[in-house]
Amino acid sequence: MSLDTATLERLRGQDAAHYLHPFTDSRELAAIGARVITHAEGIYVFDGEGRKILDGMSGLWCVNLGYGRREIADAVHRQMLELPYYNSFFQTTHPRAVELATRLATLAPAAGETRFDHVFFSSSGSESNDTNIRLVRRYWDLMGQPQRKTLISRWNGYHGSTIGGASLSGMSGMHSQGDLPIPGVAHIMQPFAFEHAHPGESRDDFGLRAARALEEKILELGPDTVAAFIAEPVQGAGGVIIPPDSYWPEIQRIVDKYGILLISDEVICAFGRLGHWFAYEKFGYRPDLVTFAKGVTSGYVPLGGVMVGSRVAKVLVEQGGEFNHGYTYSGHPVACQAALTTLDIMQAEGLVERVRSDTGPWLAQGFAALADHPLVGLAESCGMVAGLQLVRDRASNTLFDSALGVGMLCRGHCFNNGVIMRAVGDRMIIAPPLVMTRSDIDELLRLIRHALDLTLADVRARGWL
Ligand code: PMP
Repeated sequence: MSLDTATLERLRGQDAAHYLHPFTDSRELAAIGARVITHAEGIYVFDGEGRKILDGMSGLWCVNLGYGRREIADAVHRQMLELPYYNSFFQTTHPRAVELATRLATLAPAAGETRFDHVFFSSSGSESNDTNIRLVRRYWDLMGQPQRKTLISRWNGYHGSTIGGASLSGMSGMHSQGDLPIPGVAHIMQPFAFEHAHPGESRDDFGLRAARALEEKILELGPDTVAAFIAEPVQGAGGVIIPPDSYWPEIQRIVDKYGILLISDEVICAFGRLGHWFAYEKFGYRPDLVTFAKGVTSGYVPLGGVMVGSRVAKVLVEQGGEFNHGYTYSGHPVACQAALTTLDIMQAEGLVERVRSDTGPWLAQGFAALADHPLVGLAESCGMVAGLQLVRDRASNTLFDSALGVGMLCRGHCFNNGVIMRAVGDRMIIAPPLVMTRSDIDELLRLIRHALDLTLADVRARGWL
């Protein structure tokens, strides 16, 4: 369904005149005109010029089942007619929220002594992490330790864009706008060996050192002032950063030693992305709270939430009294129905198992092979997320001057040649739909290699190499 030139121009003009895009330089966008996506099917999106583009990012890490799933559309349609909205305030509930809460409690594996029998719903990852801030502070109040207020997170982590979420995030570009982070949030280094390991330091030694930054920060702040540590199992928006194997066990040792709560932000990583229903299971750590969103509805309708582990639930539910927190759309019936149908499809198609034992390993092998490309310094994946580092010189892993914007250049070549990759600086990342088959993955890898070749030629032509 390509659009005629007049329609495209009208849309771009109105877009520039009226629509403020997220994370966008609006003046720059108005000058070049937005790309118009008109429709999508399966793993492909189509733009206004009629181009068919393989969506290597599942929208924004969310359309895990691919586009055009009639089962979800039909179920949502029926739910809208049956009960489009009701709230769960004032001692009221409704069937879909109860069913989804029960279903999630069944899916989330116990972590040691911790069971995940309770869930709090929101509409996004950001709201869920704001909920986490409220939850952990409420927990420590109820525990008679109200001085435990501080949440520790990591530089280059991403936890959302609300005031709370952006504060927890470790993105300097976000912090510099609007006096963030708020008080009571502290940051430590990320476990990104490529960037931070010392020369000669092994990956595992580096992982231990990165984890011990948490202990140092706890001691610096005073152990009895720290409420929680929050982290993504694998950093997503920061550039698909996969921690060394030594990292999570050491983090677990440290949070146990100081008794602080552990929050696993699985907005990207839960629901099969890493080949497990929840990523804490893959890495073997024991969170107290688990943030989710995105893949729970395959992005068809907004829904997020927090799985509340028994340590917190016990205090909050049994002795808590009223928790003065909630959203109009907490447990929205239509969103809950979208999630229930998404989970039905995932189970019927065995997608989590497929990522774990088939497509994840297939992607890992094929993606790692991209490391022979002259522009690629490191290419690694975990389940169905992957990232590669563009470098000027592979032998010494020398990076390009970041001001050149080689990542964005590569992203343009991707988009214009039929595949969506995201650029985080000069890291090129993907999070393809979980429904992809081996041959879809082969096609994705072929398109990526072609875009890398075009980028190499472009970089050479510009005299940057
Ligand atoms: N946490 C993580 C790990 C995320 O990746 C994101 C979104 N990319 C968020 C939180 C925020 O989610 P939302 O954009 O739905 O508010």
